[in-house]
Amino acid sequence: MSLKQKVRDFVCHTGRYPNKRLGQNFLIDANILPKIVSEADIEPVDLVIEIGAGLGFLTSEIVKRANKTVTIEIDSFLCETLRQQFSDIPDFTLVEDDVLQLNLSRFFLGYDRKNVKIIGNLPYYASTPIVWKLLKYNQHISCCLLMFQTEVARRIVASPGSKDYGALSIGIDYYAKAEVVLHLSPNQFYPVPKVSSSLVKLTLRPQPKVLVKDEVLFFQLVRSAFQFRRKMLRNAIENGCINLDMEQMNRVFTILKIDSNRRGETLYISEFAEIANTFTATTG
Ligand code: SAM
Repeated sequence: MSLKQKVRDFVCHTGRYPNKRLGQNFLIDANILPKIVSEADIEPVDLVIEIGAGLGFLTSEIVKRANKTVTIEIDSFLCETLRQQFSDIPDFTLVEDDVLQLNLSRFFLGYDRKNVKIIGNLPYYASTPIVWKLLKYNQHISCCLLMFQTEVARRIVASPGSKDYGALSIGIDYYAKAEVVLHLSPNQFYPVPKVSSSLVKLTLRPQPKVLVKDEVLFFQLVRSAFQFRRKMLRNAIENGCINLDMEQMNRVFTILKIDSNRRGETLYISEFAEIANTFTATTG
């Protein structure tokens, strides 16, 4: 039976339609499932954490390859089905919870970071907060394979100077190397979403890409620069989300020989780090 038919049967037998609010667009292309999972290079010793199991289509592929699978699903109705479906699988744990509220640390106990991988066809509504949450576990996770709306995926992998480059690109680059590994059309999901999707592989860095003395200041500078992306860097920072001594900031630009007439979207992550670090050093 095709996966699309399985979703339809599920609706028919239970009277439960996929929940739009929870981003329930299920993957129904059986050929793409092994391709997605193979991008994670799963070894038998690995722990794989899946986010948003849905009807378990991707989960079935994961359990074939991983020794230990933890899958997190918020929808208790779907969890009931998943429990029945995977009850025979050893070392399979279903966590009925909101991933955004969950402390993931307990799952990592006893695993080397190189053996911890995350896979998720993420609900669009929460994909950005979920990825932020995962990046903060860079000491425990080696890689994440996550499905995003293509537009978000473009922003994640964008380079300086491009229209998609922004705070998200820098935030991700700080914690991980990002690449788009697959593009999917809306027809590979059911119900068919309005947008296309892309699978992004994040290889997490054990240490951030740049050394930053004050992370709060660094991220505030980045956010300010892109909040007013058409403004010159100097003006964007002055009008941004932080109240900084602009005389001091101008001195920082002079010390670093950074032209403050540039737009934030032209700056590399290393330049944002230099500005933040020099500002901290000269005010400290
Ligand atoms: N993995 C399945 C697939 O590929 O067919 C389902 C993917 S569907 C796009 C996203 C899934 O995430 C849904 O099953 C939804 O109920 C679940 N979900 C939504 N928000 C969640 C949250 N905050 N925590 C955990 N699961 C969530």
